Amino acid sequence: MQRNTPKVLFSTVEPVGFNHPRLIAFNEKLSEEIGLGKFEEKDLSFLVGNNLPENIKTYSTAYAGHQFGNWAGQLGDGRAILAGEITNSLREKKEIQWKGAGATPYSRHADGRAVLRSSVREYLMSEAMFHLGVPTTRALSLAFTGEDVVRDMMYSGNPQDEKGAVVVRTAESFLRFGHFELMSAQQEHNTLQQLVDFTIENYFKEITSEGVQKYKDFFENVGRRTADLMVEWYRVGFVHGVMNTDNMSILGLTVDYGPYSMMDEYDLNFTPNTTDLPGRRYAFGKQGQISQWNLWQLANALHPLIKDEKFLEEILNDYGSYFWESHDRMLCKKFGFDQLLTSDEKFFTNWQSLMQDLQLDYTLFFNELEKYDDQKDLRLQFENVSYTFLNDEKILKLEDFIKTYQSRLEKNIISREKSLEIMHKTNPKFILRNYLLYQCIEEINEGKNDMLNKLSHALENPYHTIYPEFSAKRPSDYDDISGCSTLS
Ligand code: AMP
Ligand code: MG
Ligand code: MG
Repeated sequence: MQRNTPKVLFSTVEPVGFNHPRLIAFNEKLSEEIGLGKFEEKDLSFLVGNNLPENIKTYSTAYAGHQFGNWAGQLGDGRAILAGEITNSLREKKEIQWKGAGATPYSRHADGRAVLRSSVREYLMSEAMFHLGVPTTRALSLAFTGEDVVRDMMYSGNPQDEKGAVVVRTAESFLRFGHFELMSAQQEHNTLQQLVDFTIENYFKEITSEGVQKYKDFFENVGRRTADLMVEWYRVGFVHGVMNTDNMSILGLTVDYGPYSMMDEYDLNFTPNTTDLPGRRYAFGKQGQISQWNLWQLANALHPLIKDEKFLEEILNDYGSYFWESHDRMLCKKFGFDQLLTSDEKFFTNWQSLMQDLQLDYTLFFNELEKYDDQKDLRLQFENVSYTFLNDEKILKLEDFIKTYQSRLEKNIISREKSLEIMHKTNPKFILRNYLLYQCIEEINEGKNDMLNKLSHALENPYHTIYPEFSAKRPSDYDDISGCSTLS
């Protein structure tokens, strides 16, 4: 049974403690940044939640959520425990939490543990997103707990014990849409108001209005941050995979790295989450629409404070146009255009059809476009970007597209040099592909850290090619690795 905690959004809880922890990775730069300083041997104990100082009060929070389109009622931090906040010398605050440090009052029937596989995925991907410039929670450390965790391992097909691990992660705040939904569903309007006031005061300093207007501005701001985040996901080809409202950050951060994946071949229908089939609710091309659906749920939750349906509906309707306009401006940058033209909509639609038809790799396509040389053979230039054989018909289609692209470039006011500069900054050269993560996890399981170290280095410099072998298309032996399960 999970604990019901009326009027408060949290329960105090202590990490379970692990006797034989072993550090796998520590993020020195983040540690310095948040004010924790250099790693010392004795810190390992804290990083897995052992022997905490007396004065530290650890807790987990209660939230609710809509999962796969249905109201799921009360949920909560089932395996996340907060250590509190740390303030650095610039007076910037970060919340710190353990993921996988043991059961909490919100664990329901689950064990509160995390397996190595999902922990490595969170540790590396959240940092990869940060360095790509996408708003995200971050990861400070990754450690083995020394205990095994039983999971029905859909990743490899058979149930088996997996090594347990703990990630320490940080964020300005881990507040989710679900926290607001819970207070609203329980009709605790005073607590809801306190929560919104707290959130605005601490994380939405740009809001200066008062009374109901303050709450209206808050909703509008959350909408903008959410749309901006979606556009960033589209820019880099990130598919979250479980966009339930309990996984939506109120600050517009990427939070909860579960069955996510970077997209290899461009496919609007791609979902990495095997439990999202056959509906594909959380597919790449649906993320914009789903974020709007999620904002509807937030609007419902905030209704008791705003009490103005017309206003909420307007904001939600405007969300679509705001999102699409930012999305198209982002695409312009990927192509190196200096402004969005009305004719671009048609250009983008043609491009999408080209991508799907030729099964082109999303990231490599733009890298190749930057290098395109009309003196060289087109097939030679693009065959390593495609996951299918480029027959004559496909080459013709590509040729046509390139011609349209070149005449579109001529409408730029800026020079081609400047345009290329924009492309370099917008299109990553390295993305953390699912198969690379797979290889890395296999290696760590065998006691090797080479791949982990190399990937960590590559992901810190995503706009440069550090390791050419990591900036190539997915090898065909890994064609089945693009999906994962939510079991983590
Ligand atoms: P997710 O789909 O990962 O966002 O998880 C949905 C809910 O299940 C959240 O409330 C999680 O805290 C909870 N949960 C997921 N895995 C576990 C676990 N191993 N132990 C306890 N709670 C979990
Ligand atoms: Mg979650
Ligand atoms: Mg999760």
